[in-house]
Amino acid sequence: MNLFSALRQAFPADLDACAIEPADGGTDGRFYSWRDLDQASARIANLLDSLALPPASRIAVQVEKSVEALLLYLGVLRAGHVFLPLNTAYQAAEIEYFIGNAEPAVMVCSGKNFTWISRLAFKAGTTHVFTLNEDRTGTLLDRAAFHADEHQPAVKSGDDLAAILYTSGTTGRSKGAMLSHGNLLSNAEVLKDYWGWQTGDVLIHALPIFHVHGLFVASHGALLNGSKMLWFSRFDPRAVIARLPEATVFMGVPTLYVRLLGEAGFNREACRHMRLFISGSAPLLIETFNEFRERSGHTILERYGMSETVMLTSNPYRPEDGERRGGTVGFALPGVSLRVRDDQGHELPAGEVGGIEVRGPNVFSGYWRMPEKTREEFTPDGWFKTGDVGKVSADGYVTIVGRSKDLIITGGYNVYPAEVEGFLNELPGVAESAVIGAPHPDFGEGVLAVVVPRPGASVDPAGLIAALKGRIAGFKVPKQVFVVAELPRNTMGKVQKNLLRERHQGAFH
Ligand code: ATP
Ligand code: MG
Repeated sequence: MNLFSALRQAFPADLDACAIEPADGGTDGRFYSWRDLDQASARIANLLDSLALPPASRIAVQVEKSVEALLLYLGVLRAGHVFLPLNTAYQAAEIEYFIGNAEPAVMVCSGKNFTWISRLAFKAGTTHVFTLNEDRTGTLLDRAAFHADEHQPAVKSGDDLAAILYTSGTTGRSKGAMLSHGNLLSNAEVLKDYWGWQTGDVLIHALPIFHVHGLFVASHGALLNGSKMLWFSRFDPRAVIARLPEATVFMGVPTLYVRLLGEAGFNREACRHMRLFISGSAPLLIETFNEFRERSGHTILERYGMSETVMLTSNPYRPEDGERRGGTVGFALPGVSLRVRDDQGHELPAGEVGGIEVRGPNVFSGYWRMPEKTREEFTPDGWFKTGDVGKVSADGYVTIVGRSKDLIITGGYNVYPAEVEGFLNELPGVAESAVIGAPHPDFGEGVLAVVVPRPGASVDPAGLIAALKGRIAGFKVPKQVFVVAELPRNTMGKVQKNLLRERHQGAFH
């Protein structure tokens, strides 16, 4: 079924009720009703139909976050084309790669970028370039306004492509993950049940919508439950705290939780109607998990997923299913099979660390125009190799230990950075750390740490190294420690270890 049709069926009976309320000011109490969502997405779908594009054309979109950008997503689904969102941080070199790789029929960009993006797009064979600005101006809406506000959704089967999501590029060049209507809908339905979405829920939506987290997990969650969203085009901790008392569900990447905790106004009172805080996209530090519980009385539910699979595991929502265990990403979701294997392909027992592989209705069909890469990342028996390294406890909780690409091999020994980071973070004065390998003349790679001190604390690299020596095997102890004010992170809060590796590649030479 067309994912749009499934979402549309979940709209509440009262189409004049509020579906999305822009919450970061300047909107004079305006809101979008469910009828607005239906009619505006119909106009956009009709506009796309009028362009007579080949079926399943890619519609590439690089625009600032706005409700209209979400309506564009719905319109693309409705018309049966393939939505292809791009990170707003991407500049000319990146956009040229993505457009060249994806060859979209239509490109939608911010007005301020029209000149250079349209030049790149037309070169790649794109036939239409529209603009869409944060303030609801631009040629997309101007043109859509001439079209009817009713539209029969394109007939789609579960295997038909709905979206191509480029991965974050944390471990190398971004790959376009091809996700079908069935992948997205099955995952949204599982999460609706697993997270106990209920009547009266209100979601604070403060994530970007060019990524799985904000576009699929958050938006589908609210839409499929017919729930109102309080819509923030950017995350501002104070503005979010001001609206928290009206909300029941919040989703964030770990850095958003750290920033909430940085505000004195964040307390139990502000969270009094909240039902659920969900974290994902990057590891949540146990310190953040604990401090959040103390301050708010809520236990963050951490889950794990990726562009290629949408959501894979989640800590339980219902107490009868188990505790929410900090430092873990919970259980494989209903319908998802998850196994851990070593490099020789042997399945590992509980507690042993290896490569995480998954299977399920949510798993993508392959990387766009990268058949080689797709073949490499699937096992002969059809499991997807996530590239994450982890373990499953005897009672089923999954822990992510790191990424296989970040594994350090020093003098023939494997070092998992997350393990060493865990020990470093416990040392006095250390706020957080990143452990990487750098080329080493004797050991192949040498272990090296980059450490951020706690506010006001000063840390001594030699002291940290000495403190670790008594606790963990010598080959795991960083040979050098660099102190920095902050770790390089991308917009989803992921530490960019590739940048750290580049920066320190000469450390042992
Ligand atoms: P690329 O594949 O291009 O290197 P990426 O893997 O960072 O980039 P995404 O698909 O955005 O791109 O992110 C998925 C990854 O994020 C997962 O493979 C995992 O490493 C990490 N991740 C997601 N949720 C969690 C979590 N709760 N804890 C730890 N890591 C997580
Ligand atoms: Mg990845």
